[in-house]
Amino acid sequence: MQDAIIGHQQILEQLYHAIASNRIAGAYLFVGVPQVGKETVALHFAKSINCLTQGEGACGACLACRKADDGNHPDLQIIRPSGAWIKIDQIRELQQRIIYRPLEGVRKVYILTEAERLNLEAANCLLKTLEEPPADSVLILLTTNLEGLLPTIRSRCQIIPFHPLVAADLAGHLMERFNIDEGRAFSVATTAGGAVGKALTLLQEDADFDEEIPEIMTASDRLDAFRIAEKWTQQPEALDHLVTWYRDLALLHQGAPTNLLTHVHHEAELKQLTGRYSRLQLQSAIKAIFETKAMLQRNVNTTLALEVLALKLLRRP
Ligand SMILES: [Zn+2]
Repeated sequence: MQDAIIGHQQILEQLYHAIASNRIAGAYLFVGVPQVGKETVALHFAKSINCLTQGEGACGACLACRKADDGNHPDLQIIRPSGAWIKIDQIRELQQRIIYRPLEGVRKVYILTEAERLNLEAANCLLKTLEEPPADSVLILLTTNLEGLLPTIRSRCQIIPFHPLVAADLAGHLMERFNIDEGRAFSVATTAGGAVGKALTLLQEDADFDEEIPEIMTASDRLDAFRIAEKWTQQPEALDHLVTWYRDLALLHQGAPTNLLTHVHHEAELKQLTGRYSRLQLQSAIKAIFETKAMLQRNVNTTLALEVLALKLLRRP
């Protein structure tokens, strides 16, 4: 069966066009939030390049497509961090293989997931290949963090940004694909922040979603702030979720159309809340959330950082 990819239509068209016109770049860098669909598209691109039917997009049924799906196509390799990092040995092995002609396909494709985890040695080693990739090979680097890559690596790749889907669009796809009702589709799409993979995971887990307006947006008491901060420490994804709500407020504040909202089902409540903030307050709330997220990645005192954030976000009485 042909891969049914949700969203990212423009990117797919761009990649199909590159295949059809024989102008595939030597290296791509797919950038986007976790589970937005980078790996799915990369794999589909790899299959499309080597699909035996040579039609637009991988057929999903030919021998080459099936081998790729089963993880044993000799010209497709996915390289993931070994432990915390992608190490130099993994890149050296890639370099030993990449000089040979494809065994069965048109091109050899190497997908490097979490490219921001290339350690410095490995990154420098990879640069040599990126400078002169063999004509019959393609490297596809995936990353959630463009800044985590050496500028010299970035500049040698064709960068393709992946954006989360607008909640309404994702919900539409989910309803069509999984035959679920609208309310549930919206709930999943918004909780996933528009990231397709996350939405699919949530559907699979059949989780019960907390789709209420975050407490911190209506709290005004310092004790509430501490209690909410404690909850956040138990839910590592809370800040990702929170930022989607403040973004909605910022959008409404600018008079953006409501179909752009992530939490479109809470339009009325959000509109009410928007009036209580100035543009500057919303900007600094979003900034504070991102700064806290960055701090947490640096292993600071989690409880303290979250308490400080909660106090910053607390509504002034
Ligand atoms: Zn095929």
